[in-house]
Amino acid sequence: MRSLVLIGHGSHLNSESAGAVYRYAELLRERGLFDEVVEGYWKEEPSLRQVLRTCRYTDVTVIPMFISEGYFTETVIPRELGLGHQGPVPPEGIARVLGGKTVRYTLPYGVHASMSDVILARAHEALPDANAQDTALVIIGHGTTRNENSNRVIHQNAERLRAAGLFAEVHALFLDEDPRLSTWTDVVRSPRVVMVPFFASEGWHTLETIPEDLGLTGEVTTFGAQTVYYSKPTGTHAMVADVVLNLAEGARGQSLQGGDVDAHHAQAWDTFMRLAQGGVRLGEAVITPQAGVFELRHMLDEGRGNAGLHTVVTPEGVRDVVREDEGGHHRPVHTLRNLPRGWRAVLSAEDLPRAVHYLYPAVVEESFACHTHALHTTPWATTARRQTGIYTKVQSATAEQVEAAARDVCSRCLKTRLWASQKLDSTVFDGVPGGIPCPEACTLLVAEVRERMSAKAGGGHH
Ligand code: SF4
Repeated sequence: MRSLVLIGHGSHLNSESAGAVYRYAELLRERGLFDEVVEGYWKEEPSLRQVLRTCRYTDVTVIPMFISEGYFTETVIPRELGLGHQGPVPPEGIARVLGGKTVRYTLPYGVHASMSDVILARAHEALPDANAQDTALVIIGHGTTRNENSNRVIHQNAERLRAAGLFAEVHALFLDEDPRLSTWTDVVRSPRVVMVPFFASEGWHTLETIPEDLGLTGEVTTFGAQTVYYSKPTGTHAMVADVVLNLAEGARGQSLQGGDVDAHHAQAWDTFMRLAQGGVRLGEAVITPQAGVFELRHMLDEGRGNAGLHTVVTPEGVRDVVREDEGGHHRPVHTLRNLPRGWRAVLSAEDLPRAVHYLYPAVVEESFACHTHALHTTPWATTARRQTGIYTKVQSATAEQVEAAARDVCSRCLKTRLWASQKLDSTVFDGVPGGIPCPEACTLLVAEVRERMSAKAGGGHH
């Protein structure tokens, strides 16, 4: 039995940022090749620090859903998962045993050789009869001097597709680096030009900067004797799900049988499900058993007629309603006290754990560990020491600065800060719905501490 974990960047501000990873997780769940597919994010929950704890099985394959190698795949993700590895990941990936789980960490999907097939598929969508006589293929990369790896991947794909001989010419051109996309008319000779953005998602670059820089007026634009066919980005193609499976298969190596059910995970959820059988309140929500199914809703909607509530019937439905507050703002931390009202979920016993996972990621696992005195907490100083890049500066935050940031951020959160030596004697397992442990400062708080320090250094106000 095996768990597959897809890792995305996520965002503190934008709920759409995680969308692509959620969609791939759904596609892969439908394929049924893994016993579970779980998502984890750097800037939102389920967070990188929690995600392994939320896995049901002891054989876990972790795939970074990034288009290229770099800071996140080589530094942030291995560090936050506790892999004890920094730097380039070898082609066969990294395997570690962590907390009784075998964790296999792979290269990001974007560097897999089969991404060339995805580029080809995008090119043929934009121009079905693209050919070796009159069609040029341009693979567009971001290109930055800070990330040579991303350029290397694009050059490799260009070489592979050039060797395949399917186009009259193949070029790799970049937004921020030579050879520049803006010079395409100097280098591309063919009358028909298919341009494929090698980007993870549809966004500012693919929708605005590239079309604006090139003067594209739509999917097809004619410039004198040449016509440009502009495709959708590679990263959103359904074939990426196959690339992910290829990577996962490669990482599995000789281990064919997979793992077992993780005993701690199973115990936590068995205990929680027994509570749910009798009805249970968790955080701001209430779960009520009803004739063989479970109903989940906001506690403040208790007693409201069903007709006035939006009903969802799947864990994904719960995921989508709880990702924003009532004002439409993103909820990167799900235990912030802004769970929207106005909905109810009707779920089978089989679906309830996944729905509760989306509602409050890792809360059942961490509350149970706290209840059984098995929760490891990480003090602020350790979290701060781990930070790199733009967050390195939080290492010099004073206790007062951290406390001031926590007053702002954590006062809106249901969790009790064990990492700041607060005590939590009772959890949902003792009948206290709001007794939720916070074993380690989240990235939202780390970002708040950094912002306060920057504001102070700049003499500004937060
Ligand atoms: Fe909540 Fe603060 Fe813990 Fe973040 S650090 S999860 S805001 S208590």
